[in-house]
Amino acid sequence: MPRINILPPSVYNRIAAGEVVDRPYSVVKELVENAIDAGASEISIYIEDGGKSLVRIIDNGCGIERDDLQSAFLPHATSKISRAEDLDYILTLGFRGEAVASIAAVSKMTITSKTENGKCYSLRSNGGELGDIEEKPGEKGTDVIVSELFFNAPVRLKFLKSDRAEEADITTFVARFILSRPSIAFNYYVNGKNVLQSFGEGDESAFACVYGAATLENCYRIDADRHGIKIRGYIGNQNFTKSNKSYQTVFLNGRYVSNQTISAALTNAYANYLMKRQYPFYVLNIDVPPEIVDVNVHPNKADVRFSDNKIIYGCIYKVVSDVLDGNASALNYVVGNQPANIGPLPSNADSVLSEKIDMSKPFERTLSYDEARKAMFEMDEKPQTVAKNIDLPFSLSTDDKRSINNSAPKIEEPYIPENMRKNQSEYKSEKLIQEAKATSSEGEQNTLRNMFPDLYFEPSIFTLNSSNPVATGVGNEENAAKSGLILDPFEENKKFLLEKEQQARQEQIDVSSFVFAGKLFNTYLLYEHGSEVYIIDQHAAHERLIFNRLKEKMQQRKIACQSMLVPYTISLNAFESAFMRENLDRIREMGFEIDEPQQNTFAVSGVPTDLITIDLPSFFHDILGEVGGYRSIKLEELLKDKLATAACKAAVKGGDDLSKAEIDELFRLIDGNLGLKCPHGRPVVAKLTKYELEKMFKRVV
Ligand code: ADP
Ligand code: MG
Repeated sequence: MPRINILPPSVYNRIAAGEVVDRPYSVVKELVENAIDAGASEISIYIEDGGKSLVRIIDNGCGIERDDLQSAFLPHATSKISRAEDLDYILTLGFRGEAVASIAAVSKMTITSKTENGKCYSLRSNGGELGDIEEKPGEKGTDVIVSELFFNAPVRLKFLKSDRAEEADITTFVARFILSRPSIAFNYYVNGKNVLQSFGEGDESAFACVYGAATLENCYRIDADRHGIKIRGYIGNQNFTKSNKSYQTVFLNGRYVSNQTISAALTNAYANYLMKRQYPFYVLNIDVPPEIVDVNVHPNKADVRFSDNKIIYGCIYKVVSDVLDGNASALNYVVGNQPANIGPLPSNADSVLSEKIDMSKPFERTLSYDEARKAMFEMDEKPQTVAKNIDLPFSLSTDDKRSINNSAPKIEEPYIPENMRKNQSEYKSEKLIQEAKATSSEGEQNTLRNMFPDLYFEPSIFTLNSSNPVATGVGNEENAAKSGLILDPFEENKKFLLEKEQQARQEQIDVSSFVFAGKLFNTYLLYEHGSEVYIIDQHAAHERLIFNRLKEKMQQRKIACQSMLVPYTISLNAFESAFMRENLDRIREMGFEIDEPQQNTFAVSGVPTDLITIDLPSFFHDILGEVGGYRSIKLEELLKDKLATAACKAAVKGGDDLSKAEIDELFRLIDGNLGLKCPHGRPVVAKLTKYELEKMFKRVV
């Protein structure tokens, strides 16, 4: 066994660097976080060649003292915490003191910094070897230049993605920073071009900078405070859905997180409004007391741990579902435009509204975090006794009492303030409730469940298994992959179609001896062959034939382009644009004429002739649904989908009265492919045997 060596810092730092800095985006992330922690109100970010040749972050924050400049480059050197206990109250983004040392170890890095009252100094590192501190002219703040990333780690360099892909990931991070720090003015330059700019003017302006002003109109702006959990941001309305999860952004105490409890609450709140493979849009800033969340999980993992998942889940679920379901209490949460579907309000809604905002009213007080936790704990422990002791401290309308557990009998009506009792018929009488309590052995508990819906949740939602329909929308890709779910619908589809095609080939038989025996309902064509009757669905058959023809043309790149009189234009945000640019050639190959006449605006001036009826907004919506997705774009598959729709529209319909010549032509085209399926997977041909017919008439048994 060789002797044990204590590694020198240069080696150790390069190993540690692998943890913290795996790609250019992590450099940007760490340095911008440092700028934010330094209290900057303006941050400029410059990247070149996807961040590989240059990442530069300039901020106007507090700066670094001359004497600390060298320490900043040391591992585990941080000004943000000093004692173990500090780890329980982390309010800064950084605290490990690893980033600067790690980045410096694998790049050429210069930090130039000036504090309010000090002079400006600069220190350069070459792969971790520090130079001398130099005095320089400069403004208050810090300028960090990282060039030639991984110049001394060729293996890492090899594993980087293309410049564009690295750039796209950085853009995603910058957009997140803009959204999470709306009071900071960001400027983001890619190869000298200003790609994103925010003005530090608050939520709305930051949101519009990233997603465009039009998206604002499709969202509710919410600002809620429940049990000490503050939830602020934008949630897409009931009709504004996305085809992947990349439009779901959550910041917890200012830090981007991807957390299952939070996404489960949101997914479940939206459950009634989403179809399969539709995902909600949201950007939420959630603030919780720092002591109830553990952010010290892993430097590169966005996950966090809560000391109590139930309250987090409950509060988010309650607020978001109230808004979406149009419950009266949504008025407490929504800023600006109220949900259109808000339920019936008492006739004195205005005064109720103003009273509801008056937090001094006893029934308006929401529980503090600790009170809520205690109440919940006690309810779990001894529901019988607590029910009597709890003097409901906050108002609930009937709508509020929707139980998370749908199977629980609905026993409602806890406490309703006098002025909200106008419409008595809406509420069940006290007597009824007493009766229900008396007759149901679970009465007390269920009432509690209804009184405090946000303190309950179904534990099953946190266990990811394929038999749980909610769970499939809940986990992240990684977890889902672990549980063996096939996540890529296209892959699934492809496999299915391939199997079917193989089957079809096997079923090809000689049809020359088929005898046309008539048609049924102007839809089914009958052919007799030996002791079998073949029934062909004329629409399905024709649809399949057209689809095959279109697909062949597409594969051979023979799709002609039809010019449009008025081009269709779409304005996109920075990352959608980058994505479009990357795929422009492929879209053109498919018969589209498309250009970018203005930065981030695309004009479609021609469409494939066979897809003349294509719905362009929905087509591009689907394509852009792939932005930031985990899988690479499957344009061909998407287009095939559109071809199937076009084929369906062009095909003869069931009920169309076809002439014998048309029928013969259709049959000829089918060419014995009796195992054909229509592009949607329905069978084209069905078979009935003489034996089956004879059984029907009891000629045989
Ligand atoms: P951490 O952020 O975890 O403390 P880093 O390695 O990222 O560790 O930074 C080390 C230290 O360098 C920070 O604690 C801070 O004192 C200082 N520092 C780094 N970047 C900046 C900046 N932009 N402005 C002011 N101080 C900075
Ligand atoms: Mg840091």
